[in-house]
Amino acid sequence: MAPVPGYAGRVAIVDLSSGKVRIEELSRELVELFVGGKGFLYYYGFSLIPPSIDPLDPEENVLIVAPGALAAHAPGASKIGFLAKSPLTNILCDTYAGQVFGSKMKMAGFDALIVTGASDEPIYLYLEDGRVEIRGAKHLWGSSTWDTVIGVRRETRSGASVAAIGPAGERLVRFANIIVDGFRAAGRCGLGAVMGAKKLKAIAVWGRRPPSRASVEEWREAYLAIYRRIERDEPTRAWARYGTNDGVSVCSRLSMCPGWHWKRPWLPEDEAKRLGGDEVLARELGRAGYKPYAGYLWGWGCPVKCSKLVSPRREGYEHIVVKPEYENLAMLGVATGVLDPDEVIYIEWLVNRLGMDSISFGETVSWLMELYEDGLLSREELDGLTVEPRFGEAEAVKQLARLIAERRGIGAVLAEGVEKAAKILGRGGDRAVHVKGLESAAWDPRGRRGFAVSYATADVGASHLRGWPRPHERPSKGPAKEMVRSFLEDRDHKALLDSLGLCAFVPYEDEEITRMYKAVTGLEKSIEELRLVGWRTEALARIHAALAGRVPEGDTVPKRWMEPIPEGPLRGEKAALSWEDLREAIREFYRARGYHEEYGVPLPETLEKLGLGFAAEEAQRALREVERRLSRG
Ligand code: SF4
Repeated sequence: MAPVPGYAGRVAIVDLSSGKVRIEELSRELVELFVGGKGFLYYYGFSLIPPSIDPLDPEENVLIVAPGALAAHAPGASKIGFLAKSPLTNILCDTYAGQVFGSKMKMAGFDALIVTGASDEPIYLYLEDGRVEIRGAKHLWGSSTWDTVIGVRRETRSGASVAAIGPAGERLVRFANIIVDGFRAAGRCGLGAVMGAKKLKAIAVWGRRPPSRASVEEWREAYLAIYRRIERDEPTRAWARYGTNDGVSVCSRLSMCPGWHWKRPWLPEDEAKRLGGDEVLARELGRAGYKPYAGYLWGWGCPVKCSKLVSPRREGYEHIVVKPEYENLAMLGVATGVLDPDEVIYIEWLVNRLGMDSISFGETVSWLMELYEDGLLSREELDGLTVEPRFGEAEAVKQLARLIAERRGIGAVLAEGVEKAAKILGRGGDRAVHVKGLESAAWDPRGRRGFAVSYATADVGASHLRGWPRPHERPSKGPAKEMVRSFLEDRDHKALLDSLGLCAFVPYEDEEITRMYKAVTGLEKSIEELRLVGWRTEALARIHAALAGRVPEGDTVPKRWMEPIPEGPLRGEKAALSWEDLREAIREFYRARGYHEEYGVPLPETLEKLGLGFAAEEAQRALREVERRLSRG
């Protein structure tokens, strides 16, 4: 059967245990229900990964990689998605990176890659022209993410896009990430450790020919119209100057910073400015500095081009990173009290090279600092550290990065992530800031009404990309449940962007999305129909998480966010009026989605409505499981 236009029509299944590669056709039903990218990740993840497995069992866990439906077609189609059962949270988790991997994978001839089993020796995968090769990577084992990218390109093609793990992934650090082309992180949930357990050092892709489009003429017209509008859009141009690296000023104004391990959501202007956008831009490389990295820096066909290269302005620090995104500045800098931009840029460089998620790393390290400063940890327990882990001590952060990546001394404990580290140490669990085991992104919900419910109900844990409530209002103006509908729309829209492979920073209008999708695939869909992919993926994720024991028990927020903000314009505010207010908002979310009002698991009629009848049996099993667990107390 001919593939749906715009899709490569092929899914590669690689079994590392046997070394066999199988190619399957992409079915039309899958495209109709799950669109691409994120949709494919959750369909395959739900179907192939049993909820009860140990995520670090390489024979059982499955890594799935999928570019979006509009990869290699739409301006700014930059995202590549990865999914597996997370070693950090024990539930399915998807994570994305820019900029060109997704489009190159599609042009290499694949809509998805499924990696099962484990290799005895380190290997990497190379995808080109519809072929998948398994190549030896013994010589790359132990290398940094950057050196791996360079090494793999040398052996494949100079234009290959490479997703690699660093030493942290090899040593199964539970928040090890996957770094794409040396700069871009598929950061969350420790999928680098899943690759490490499989002895999969890297995946490289190369291709030049996009799949055929339903109407070349309509596609060309749509492409040019979208590109030109966005390129000339004044607010987008202004935004592109800073990207998210002015975020510290923004988070401070909103009292949403993770300052000093979430003790200071508001910072005075002079402090916030120290990691403000102007400080980052002052460290931007000159034009010539960009040359070696051209081709990987911006999303495929991106009209915005917000990425910038920066380097510390200090002698001896010649390390280059892509402009630190807000999450890096906030979690590596503000959360740890390190406000020196040169140090923060260097720490970002170090964490990227070692292959660790900067959000989880920043949370885990700043949590340790709080325990130490509050006298809950003694100096003797900090094996391997030569300096005291006090807030603002950059040297401690740098040492901890190496200790964690090497699983040495106290680093071996922190490498488990903040939830498990607290259990190992037997203290600090009530201060750890995570949801369902995922360390929180750098936006404190005490500053934005309704955000706590978004975090609490996010299928993967504390992700800031599961729906922003609107409008910006203070939490105390009314019950949190009033904000549920507003973040659901944003949640589903983001899921659609991840399914199409579009960057959230490229300001597509709804009509442009449907126009481009039709020109490429020939499928005429309304934006509402397309957005259903968000609800479908969430429903599957919740059934899976209920069977793994995280739903509904994990649908809550950390205690820290229910402590009043101590200073600033929102002094006294909490993430919700009360725990009961939060609980009622979560129930409202369950009702809005057609999930069981107490158990949070999709009901049979909801699955029917979403076309997910194939999941009905598992959903029933999940309902029975949750009932049993909750009745036991
Ligand atoms: S807007 Fe920025 S992050 Fe998004 S694709 Fe373009 S360059 Fe990349």
